[in-house]
Amino acid sequence: MKYSPDVVIFGGGIAGLWALDTFISQGYSALLLENSTLGNGQTICAQGIVHGGFKYVVPGKYRQGSASEVRNMPDRWRAHLSGQRKDPDLSSVLVRSPTCSFWLSQGRGLRGLLEETFSLAGLSLLTSPPVDVTDTSPAWFKASARKIYAVSEPVIDTSSLLFHLARPHASRIIYYNTVSCLASGSGSYELTVTAKSGESYTISPQRVVLSSGIGNQDLLKIFGYDEEVMQIRPLRQLLVRGNSLPDLWGHCIDGGKAVASVTTHYDSRAGEKIWSIGGEIAEKGHTQEPEELIREGRALLERLLQGVDFSQTKWGTFDALRAEEPNGNLLPSGISMKRFGIVYVCFPTKMAMAPVLADALLSELIRDGLEKYSLNIDGINSEVRVASFPWENRF
Ligand SMILES: Cc1cc2nc3c(=O)[nH]c(=O)nc-3n(C[C@H](O)[C@H](O)[C@H](O)COP(=O)(O)OP(=O)(O)OC[C@H]3O[C@@H](n4cnc5c(N)ncnc54)[C@H](O)[C@@H]3O)c2cc1C
Repeated sequence: MKYSPDVVIFGGGIAGLWALDTFISQGYSALLLENSTLGNGQTICAQGIVHGGFKYVVPGKYRQGSASEVRNMPDRWRAHLSGQRKDPDLSSVLVRSPTCSFWLSQGRGLRGLLEETFSLAGLSLLTSPPVDVTDTSPAWFKASARKIYAVSEPVIDTSSLLFHLARPHASRIIYYNTVSCLASGSGSYELTVTAKSGESYTISPQRVVLSSGIGNQDLLKIFGYDEEVMQIRPLRQLLVRGNSLPDLWGHCIDGGKAVASVTTHYDSRAGEKIWSIGGEIAEKGHTQEPEELIREGRALLERLLQGVDFSQTKWGTFDALRAEEPNGNLLPSGISMKRFGIVYVCFPTKMAMAPVLADALLSELIRDGLEKYSLNIDGINSEVRVASFPWENRF
């Protein structure tokens, strides 16, 4: 089978799928090549928080660039999630919580008051200021916190997000085992792809988008470029399992810093609630043995959430790698899109910023006056294969 799409995208995480939808809605023909399952790597592991900048205005974390990039993201995503804004229409995506909380830990006396003042100082930079919800919060939460705020950051289910983004375009997604690349003299390429279904495709695109997360560096090589385009920052997330856990989506401020971010998920196979715990605890966690992280993490959580009964819970960990543009091993300040001939290497940096990346790619196609050719996609399998959550079949 031979195809000549306007764009070929490598990688069906949030970045690739959002870009695919954007290109197609604007009349470009596009195919997406996925070598595993959709979102495998980062998106399925994400906590699903559509950041609006809260994490970046906490003292010790303040970064003007990041805060200004993400501050409009909650409004942008809400428009897609409500169906008001199409392309993509995310109205069927499961929203786990419309807001995120942050709470100030208990019992730190004068030091606690100072921390509170510092913690709240940067919040005026946010588009929607946090609302004090201490009085209306459930008893277990009040027993745990000195103050509780609601931040206007929705939390979504990443599996549902990947599924609903991919479904309308299932016939344009090829799950493949191998790809080889033949460069032509004019700077274009002919790709030979062996699909997992056994079929073989020859694809000659006008543009190539690499949005395969950790796969980007190796893929760039097959197009003939050796430049270093990626840093990898590992995380070891903490997991707690148990149906006695309350629903919680939020960050804890302790010692003036966001020390832990907790999100509630469900393991449908086991019929159990799961907390995924990230933030500082997971940044440090990758340098610890899992047993040590569990021991320290449990002690920290028992101190930060004194109103929660952890006696019937099971604890575990999972590892994930964040792939981003090189930035001295620190979180880059925004999306990254670098061009090599007709190839773009992309990192959204955060799930929340995928729409910004898709808009930037679209602007490039428009600026170049890329011609729009139609594509007959008969013969491509139309399945949606979403990656499994990292806690499924574990502990
Ligand atoms: C534990 C954790 C929690 C996070 N929480 C949040 C959060 O709450 N909010 C937020 O905004 N961000 C969060 N992030 C960051 C966010 O997950 C990432 O920025 C985002 O998901 C990156 O998306 P991506 O599409 O670039 O990459 P990925 O999601 O990694 O997708 C890459 C895709 O490419 C495929 N692939 C890999 N190699 C190849 C290849 N050679 N050929 C073809 N396909 C290939 C993979 O199978 C996958 O489908 C979190 C990250 C982690 C690790």
